[in-house]
Amino acid sequence: MKTPQASPSVAIRGSTQLFGLIGHPVSHSLSPAMHNAALTALGIDAAYVPFPVAPRHLEQAIAGLEAIGVGGFNITIPHKQAVLPLLKSASDTARAVGAVNTVYRLPDGGWGGRNTDVEGFTRPLPALNWRGRKALVLGSGGAARAVIQGCLQLGFAAVRVVGRSGARLSLLETEWPDFVRPILWNDVGSVLADSDLVVNATPVGMHSDSDREAISKSPISEADIAQLPDAAIVYDLIYTPRPTRLLSLAKKRGLLAIDGLEMLVQQGAIALSLWLGDREVPVGVMREAAERSLG
Ligand code: NAP
Repeated sequence: MKTPQASPSVAIRGSTQLFGLIGHPVSHSLSPAMHNAALTALGIDAAYVPFPVAPRHLEQAIAGLEAIGVGGFNITIPHKQAVLPLLKSASDTARAVGAVNTVYRLPDGGWGGRNTDVEGFTRPLPALNWRGRKALVLGSGGAARAVIQGCLQLGFAAVRVVGRSGARLSLLETEWPDFVRPILWNDVGSVLADSDLVVNATPVGMHSDSDREAISKSPISEADIAQLPDAAIVYDLIYTPRPTRLLSLAKKRGLLAIDGLEMLVQQGAIALSLWLGDREVPVGVMREAAERSLG
């Protein structure tokens, strides 16, 4: 992955309100560019700073961010689940997903948690009536959990989740009973013909500095894509490269293809709006900053 270009310069003063991101690593994140561009456009005396926090320092970091007056922060890998017990409250959606990506200050002290990945995922989808439809989610990790919850909230009848780990799939089936149906990769062919939405929540096809062949891979084959309904939508959570091999194949087949950049932008916009007291935020500025950072 390319290193993001520098964020627009933000003047730091004694009065500057800090927001941020904690994760390990955080150096490749596009969030500082997106949020600082939006804060600058809004003319707010605030800055968004990435903080690398190793897992053993998570509890200290959460307490420290409160102590130094940070206004709110995002959480990325590997802390999205581990942070839950350190918060005073968490939204129903965050609890259902089992992960928090956005933390905000509570009026009486302590932190509240939300999961804006869920709405970040659903916002880029076309405004269709999804009731009774079926989704196919490739992968069973953290992002897949946000996608499952998003599909539930949109009214899907079922989500078939494809994974390599039977144990992880069984857990998802237990957590979303009568909604998640586990599928092993060898059986994916059996559910393609009635899948209205296919979501790639694996890293397969993502640009990798260590694997030059990675971007030529797709989690499902061209023959698999040929079996999807003509109105199916293919959504890849990956945004490097744009498009991924999966989305190129979907477009070639004439299907609507959505990449993961808009999800990233939307989850960030929801978080920033929350921190700023439900203020409208310049989503276009955030999108442009993210695209510029990708180069
Ligand atoms: P994760 O928790 O590590 O889960 C990755 C999943 O992919 C696991 O289920 C894993 O299977 C599966 N997987 C990994 N390599 C595979 C392979 N070669 N073949 C088949 N399955 C494979 O990661 P995550 O946080 O869910 O992220 C998944 C993807 O979504 C990443 O590409 C990430 O960049 C992207 N993402 C995008 C956004 C956005 O805003 N656009 C947000 C979050 C994540 P096992 O369970 O068998 O190991």
